[in-house]
Amino acid sequence: MKLHDLTFEPYISAEKIQNTVKSLAVTIAKDYTTKTPVFVGVLNGAFMFLGDLMKYYQQPCEINFTKLASYQGTSSTGEVQTLIGLNSLEGRDVIIVEDIVDTGHTLAKIIDLLTEAKVNSYKIASLFYKPKAYKYDFKVDYVGLEIPPKFIVGYGLDYDGLGRNLPEIYQLKS
Ligand code: 5GP
Ligand code: MG
Ligand code: MG
Repeated sequence: MKLHDLTFEPYISAEKIQNTVKSLAVTIAKDYTTKTPVFVGVLNGAFMFLGDLMKYYQQPCEINFTKLASYQGTSSTGEVQTLIGLNSLEGRDVIIVEDIVDTGHTLAKIIDLLTEAKVNSYKIASLFYKPKAYKYDFKVDYVGLEIPPKFIVGYGLDYDGLGRNLPEIYQLKS
């Protein structure tokens, strides 16, 4: 499959993703039986994951979004910009929903914002996690799948704007 100048090959099936998302929703729900969390999706990448996660999460909850940008092309720039911030989260139990944690720069920025927002508690949920690329110590509380440090697209993740609509995951062909 070609997107712009790069070739990608099938990596994770839509069925495997759905099963992973379903089991994350069940795990999170068990931890929040006595609290009404606010799920905060990190745009744009997490839109599809959050949408499916919410369909499988069958307890009261709220949904919100934040928008950050750090990636250009196929690598992280290390500089993270806040495009839509976190507001009205004071005293709330927040679950940050990320598509993927790579270097962790984005997560570090989000944790700064959460601290400023005076939330009651926060947890991080990420569909994908690249432990070999991760540069921080913050815990990623709910991880769908650990993957090697290779560039992927699909299921919300893009390569220069393309690929977000794909229901499965593709890996950059080496
Ligand atoms: P980090 O700040 O952890 O390095 O990267 C966070 C963001 O970079 C992710 O939320 C995602 O938007 C983007 N990113 C990281 N790894 C990948 C990848 O393999 N593929 C794509 N398409 N985006 C990625
Ligand atoms: Mg993201
Ligand atoms: Mg991107």
